[in-house]
Amino acid sequence: MRLLFLGPPGAGKGTQAKRVAAELGIPHIATGDMLRQAVAEGTELGLQARAIMERGDLVPDNLVIAMLLERVGRDDATDGFILDGFPRTIAQAEALEARFGGAGLDAAVVIEVDTEEIVRRISGRRVCPNGHVFHIDEAPSSTGGVCDQCGDSVYQREDDRAETVRNRLHVYRDLTEPLIAFYGARDITMHVIDGVGGVDAITDAIMAALNS
Ligand code: AMP
Repeated sequence: MRLLFLGPPGAGKGTQAKRVAAELGIPHIATGDMLRQAVAEGTELGLQARAIMERGDLVPDNLVIAMLLERVGRDDATDGFILDGFPRTIAQAEALEARFGGAGLDAAVVIEVDTEEIVRRISGRRVCPNGHVFHIDEAPSSTGGVCDQCGDSVYQREDDRAETVRNRLHVYRDLTEPLIAFYGARDITMHVIDGVGGVDAITDAIMAALNS
């Protein structure tokens, strides 16, 4: 099954996509995580992407498409995958269509959360270098500055600062949200999920929708 998780930054896509991928036994492919890793490793791609990501803009389509197509071609992805953070533009969606035929996907899970809640969530989000996610009010790490799961330090993502979050939301509305209509016009199943509520309850709602 080739699945897409779509929604604004801060909707909980990453958290939910990871959980659902584990339940379904398929890889969770997050272009944001791959790009952050490239930045951390100082690769050519990372050097090109770094400043763009810090501003909350999109990394050019050609770079992200090449990275994603290489990833979905690996052995672990032959039975399917969950895409998180890709496609983010119509051109990226068209690249998926070209690669897999048809709409490129079997289903999309659209997670809805209103803007005020998004800003609250993102501004309180803290992460560790291994991708474990905390929230200063809702899910703080028990030791404050240290990750409960791996012991690394916990910090705020550069692009989670308030000014950048506003830009990311604009970018989402202008370039990514049109994908809902794009896929709505194609032959794939769309599941719209309310992204406000407990993490377990939302995972259950997504699994129920996918199994229906
Ligand atoms: P995310 O972790 O999905 O919020 O992504 C973090 C940042 O990585 C985004 O704000 C973009 O700068 C960049 N990025 C991730 N995925 C893509 C994509 N599919 N196309 C362009 N830029 C991306």
